[in-house]
Amino acid sequence: MNNISVIGSGTMGNGIAHVFAQFGYQVTLIDINQDALDKAIATIGKNLDRQVAKEKISEADKQAALSNISTSTDVATGVKTADLVVEAATENFEIKKQIFKTMDENAPAAAILATNTSSISITKIAAETSRPTQVIGMHFMNPVPMMKLVEVIRGYATSDETTSKVMEASKKLQKIPVEVNDYPGFVANRILMPMINEAIYTLFEGVAGVEEIDTVMKLGMAHPMGPLQLADFIGLDVCLSILNVLYEGFGNPKYAPCPLLVNMVTAGYKGAKTGEGFYKYTPGSKDLVVSPMFKK
Ligand code: NAD
Repeated sequence: MNNISVIGSGTMGNGIAHVFAQFGYQVTLIDINQDALDKAIATIGKNLDRQVAKEKISEADKQAALSNISTSTDVATGVKTADLVVEAATENFEIKKQIFKTMDENAPAAAILATNTSSISITKIAAETSRPTQVIGMHFMNPVPMMKLVEVIRGYATSDETTSKVMEASKKLQKIPVEVNDYPGFVANRILMPMINEAIYTLFEGVAGVEEIDTVMKLGMAHPMGPLQLADFIGLDVCLSILNVLYEGFGNPKYAPCPLLVNMVTAGYKGAKTGEGFYKYTPGSKDLVVSPMFKK
């Protein structure tokens, strides 16, 4: 396996391209938006600089990684020589369905088609292709260059051969892959999202304030970040959409999103990316300031 195409050059796509390029793969980074590609290359450069400054890699390694990446705005041509495609486009089934159809028609017959989806069924995506045994989930964590885990998700029809190739490729990136089956939320989000939802319910019901809830979980459970801060970091809209996948997928009211979360997303308070969620974010400042909405 040598040629990797990464589709979508946003938060996750640039990190995925970064790690494959750093470990010597030829990477084609594809996005429909040229601005997103330009931003991704700049971000990869900055993140490689950080690794050089920390003496994790040399300047020559950085240059080699950058020279391993080319870009394209066309999925059909960008996957023509791929051994593995990792799709990391917007979390929307209709978008992914179209991308998988194009990949299926244009990638070599032996290519593995992986998706970095957080919550969409791998089995459902695979059913849109003529090669469901070669479709798999390759769920990297954010920020990709730092986080060790890859959740490798087998769809109903995914073959052993596809799974072992993706496990191997993950290990070559010095990641730790964990194999799981394809049910709503897989493992990571099935466990994480109900915890975040419960933290929001705890705030909603007035049991404790934002800082108190996060402090209990940080100091009491040794979590590096409290659940409300983590929800802001992930994006409250993303949390809501994953909870809806769990709720609809299992038909169990225990996954029903907290009405406070629904209200915040509806009002546009989506966390760090919009400047405010449970905390308020000021560009250039690392201080954690509780949103005025939740000040006592
Ligand atoms: P993002 O919004 O930052 O980036 C998505 C990119 O996809 C954009 O640059 C957009 O232009 C591009 N895109 C949209 N339609 C396209 C198409 N048809 N062809 C090519 N490119 C297209 O999103 P993200 O946060 O990087 O998430 C990407 C995927 O990774 C999603 O499936 C998400 O669930 C998953 N994921 C995200 C995180 C996270 O923390 N953000 C973590 C794990 C997994």
